[in-house]
Amino acid sequence: VQTSHSHETLIGQDERYVWHSMKPYNPKATIVAEKAEGSWVTDSDGNRYLDAMAGLWCVNVGYGRKELAEAAYEQLKEMAYFPLSQSHIPAIKLAEKLNQMLGDEYVIFFSNSGSEANETAFKIARQYHQQKGEYNRYKIVSRYRAYHGNTMGALAATGQAQRKFKYEPLAPGFIHVSPPDSYRDKENVSNPAELSSVKEVDRVMTWENSETIAAMIMEPIITGGGVLIPPDGYVKAVKEICDKHGALLIVDEVICGFGRTGKPFGYMHEDIKPDIITMAKGITSAYLPLSATAVRKEIYESFKGTEEYDYFRHVNTFGGNPAACALAIKNLEIMETENLFDRSHHLGETLKKEFATHLKNHPYVGDVRGRGLLVGIELVKDKKTKEPLEVDLVNQVIAACKQNGLLIGKNGTTVAGYNNVLTLSPPLNIERNDLDFIVKTLTDNLNKL
Ligand code: PMP
Repeated sequence: VQTSHSHETLIGQDERYVWHSMKPYNPKATIVAEKAEGSWVTDSDGNRYLDAMAGLWCVNVGYGRKELAEAAYEQLKEMAYFPLSQSHIPAIKLAEKLNQMLGDEYVIFFSNSGSEANETAFKIARQYHQQKGEYNRYKIVSRYRAYHGNTMGALAATGQAQRKFKYEPLAPGFIHVSPPDSYRDKENVSNPAELSSVKEVDRVMTWENSETIAAMIMEPIITGGGVLIPPDGYVKAVKEICDKHGALLIVDEVICGFGRTGKPFGYMHEDIKPDIITMAKGITSAYLPLSATAVRKEIYESFKGTEEYDYFRHVNTFGGNPAACALAIKNLEIMETENLFDRSHHLGETLKKEFATHLKNHPYVGDVRGRGLLVGIELVKDKKTKEPLEVDLVNQVIAACKQNGLLIGKNGTTVAGYNNVLTLSPPLNIERNDLDFIVKTLTDNLNKL
């Protein structure tokens, strides 16, 4: 929508009519975005910003890709809608493509958002055990600090107290365990099964009674909770614990999927086959709403009984709509032809190295970590105690970067002040000189602290 209104008028209307998420309203800090190209967004005043947060909304192939707009337009002209209680060609083709990416063992249920993809996964996990006559298996284990969505089940799985307490009671049957924090709790173990965070999963599943556990959900890397990269072997060790207790492993790839971490999916850094994989955002590079729950074929097969209640009693009107599917197919094609998974890996390594060099002696930079083009910089008051830096100072850096045309974010959890991890996740096709701009702008502003 293009308009001739001044920025002031638009901000006034925005303040009056639009309810924004998360923050107290601050007209001075609100960007009214008007257009975007590549990694850059332009606001209604003509200011340009490099969107180094685009990866958290997962604009993985960058803004302004005409091919994507055309794929959706062509499909809308051909056939705008048909429900997936029947079928249509874009959904079939996209499900086939996702299957190739995952290794040909999955059946795909489409929804519109990451939250819905996770809700779908929880319902499938619970019903799967019911189908097998294991009527007590309903509990879902998830991890503190993780975010899994805004709906009552996905929020119950979320491990960030500040997002939850005003909306309780949430869906019952969700239990939390600690994630590994490789920066704060370095453990010197040669066998990942010996990690305290892995043993905790085993202990909790045992004490809760294995026969009550339906599934565990986790991201390969906790993104929103502070870019927590697990030690090598952790994901596989958790899968083995789930197998031992008869619980399904759901991997939430809503952010990590589609190249963000330098591989098609984040779990692929280890040798595992998840039971269920949820994905969203990056599937269309955020151009249209679409999400998917990929379920192992054997699990799907158990829903094929002859009784009415053997079927999955779950419907999603707009999930897998034809235009979003057609666009997603084109998006995945671009990622492959432009080699964006490898590019994410290589540029991510470069970004980490540059920050590590430039910020090595910075008194507040406790840790620089990342995988692919998902990079976190943990700010602390004191490198010895690792106490988180005050959020006002973290915000000061973010605001200064914005003044200089760079959008970055912070992640963590406000509980105990752990909202101290600067997060960078630019489009995967970011230009090399734009990467240099990120490094210079952020380093300069951190040096001013
Ligand atoms: N899972 C993860 C890991 C997420 O980061 C998010 C959103 N940031 C969601 C689920 C929920 O996705 P949505 O906002 O599309 O519902």
